[in-house]
Amino acid sequence: MKNIESISVNPQLPLATRLKNVKAYGAPVLDVELLMNTNENPYQLPEKVIKDMLIELSSSLADMNRYPDRLQLELRDELANYVNQVTDNSITSNEVWAANGSNEILNQILVAFFDPGAKALGFVPSYSMHKILSEQNGYQFLEIPRNSDFSIDILNALEVIESENPRIIFITSPNNPTGNVMTLSDLDKILNVANDSVVIFDEAYGEFSREPSAVKLIGKYSNLFVTRTMSKAFAFAGARVGYAIAQPESLAALGLVRLPYHLSTQTQILAKVALRNYKLLQSQVQQIINDREFMQKELTELGLVSLASDANFFLLGRFKSKEKVFDALVKASILVRDVGIPEFLRVTVPSSEQTHLFVSRLETLLDNREIELV
Ligand SMILES: *Cc1c(COP(=O)(O)O)cnc(C)c1O
Repeated sequence: MKNIESISVNPQLPLATRLKNVKAYGAPVLDVELLMNTNENPYQLPEKVIKDMLIELSSSLADMNRYPDRLQLELRDELANYVNQVTDNSITSNEVWAANGSNEILNQILVAFFDPGAKALGFVPSYSMHKILSEQNGYQFLEIPRNSDFSIDILNALEVIESENPRIIFITSPNNPTGNVMTLSDLDKILNVANDSVVIFDEAYGEFSREPSAVKLIGKYSNLFVTRTMSKAFAFAGARVGYAIAQPESLAALGLVRLPYHLSTQTQILAKVALRNYKLLQSQVQQIINDREFMQKELTELGLVSLASDANFFLLGRFKSKEKVFDALVKASILVRDVGIPEFLRVTVPSSEQTHLFVSRLETLLDNREIELV
């Protein structure tokens, strides 16, 4: 079968000019033993949760002739409840809004606040979809380079925000692909000057982080949208559920642009059951953090460099040729991610068992000089 992502668009079609040189985004899909390239939780759903889901789903199937609850009332209640439990805040369902993955949330925000000529700004390297979605929606995307340790130069950021006046500012914390966080006091400094911008604080990896959630600041700033997802720590990537937390009058902007009935009945049901069982579904989060620390220690002993991370992945280097290392790992049935950072590859923490496999296969490749370090 032909893959839609690898076919060129028929040049006779009047494709939007801004899409002329665009390539379809997506991590390479390969059939390997160690899937360490998309930052998923490596553990499958527990039997008990699956049973609950089947019961709730089956009692809803007869009503599939009806559109879903457009306002996601019960789901937003469960989301608010969950966020309050894990971030120690007291938001209500009016401050939450869900969509098919946080990517759809990001897209809704971009659509809602766009005008021709608008700029979006990000601190790179960061999550590549921020730029892709911004440009797809017609924004000019400004890339502010991070410091050499991948932190953000706050004073410079404040200057650039004042001079460029971007409509949208993206901040990812913990940052993907570098793993480091922005403190809430630095975010506060940015929000203080960014009065005319919408600030998207992307907390896709919030559950792994030691830093408190920016949800704390939504009462203070109407232009802050905290975005989160059930795709990572929640072990729920297949269901496609992400959400935004902001003031109700800010979320109202997303109500203007969401597609009618965008979140299916089954998605809402499955997400509600998952949220009620969040402790079970996230029972391995601490294990993943411990495994990350174990891997980083072992890999450092092998002479590799791994960067400090508050997420379920880390940057690993420093390789003479990250391309050769990527290929050697694929041959060893390991898929990691080339995120375009010289000398480094991004590695997702796999299951506990697989961390040992990863370390030992890497050691073999080093011994055989199939992996060469700088
Ligand atoms: C994975 C990821 C997302 C998107 O996840 P969804 O599956 O669309 O919810 C958003 N932001 C960052 C930084 C991510 O790494």
